[in-house]
Amino acid sequence: MSVDTCKASEFRQLTGQDTSHLCELTSNSSVYWLSRPTAEAFSALVAASRSQGFELAVASAHRKFERQLLIWNEKAAGIRPLLDEAGQVLDIEQLNEREQVFAMLRWSALPGTSRHHWGTDVDVYDAAAMDAVYRVQLCPDECAQGGIFSGLHRWLDDVICHNRSFGFQRPFDIDRGGVAPEPWHLSFAPEAGRYERMLDCGQMYNLLAQQPIALKQTVLENFEEIFRRFIAPARIDKRAVAD
Ligand SMILES: [Zn+2]
Repeated sequence: MSVDTCKASEFRQLTGQDTSHLCELTSNSSVYWLSRPTAEAFSALVAASRSQGFELAVASAHRKFERQLLIWNEKAAGIRPLLDEAGQVLDIEQLNEREQVFAMLRWSALPGTSRHHWGTDVDVYDAAAMDAVYRVQLCPDECAQGGIFSGLHRWLDDVICHNRSFGFQRPFDIDRGGVAPEPWHLSFAPEAGRYERMLDCGQMYNLLAQQPIALKQTVLENFEEIFRRFIAPARIDKRAVAD
């Protein structure tokens, strides 16, 4: 879909400002929202995980624009920790504004640009692997060999590789010089691809220019690079073509 045909209502869904296409669901006693086709495919993936002894659960699914805005602004204000490549806490005071923006972008999307706006993407963990007091962190160590969710992630590696994941892929599977690898982030490709094709640098720039985002001037000055490195590279529809 080209920008010309990206209607106002579609742009509002793309950017987390319209939730009319989503349905409410529960996972491990938490409420979350996904589009209906994504929810149906996800429930098939959950059932498949159960047959292997896992309990695929949702840590995060749809996120509204306002929620992503709050996360971004709290990170900039130091209310939420800013992490380096290894997941260690960074001292904001030691960074200039450009360094701060790019450090934030490794782990957090700008409001309006998160895949979590679409209702097609979920962050997952294995509820069967943990006891009641364990707090899910969504960090690389949990997913790596020897980590608490390693079993689930080796199974996901296998089903994604053999096209038995009901359409789910990992958009942040490897480091492409933008967003840090997030093996826990799954995307329902048949629907997410439609949103990916709507992504347009100029439209996103105009949206952000009108919003009360922290570090706005630095974000806008560097936006072409930000779009190229952090927003566009995760496109799974392009990857499928390249493969
Ligand atoms: Zn995610």
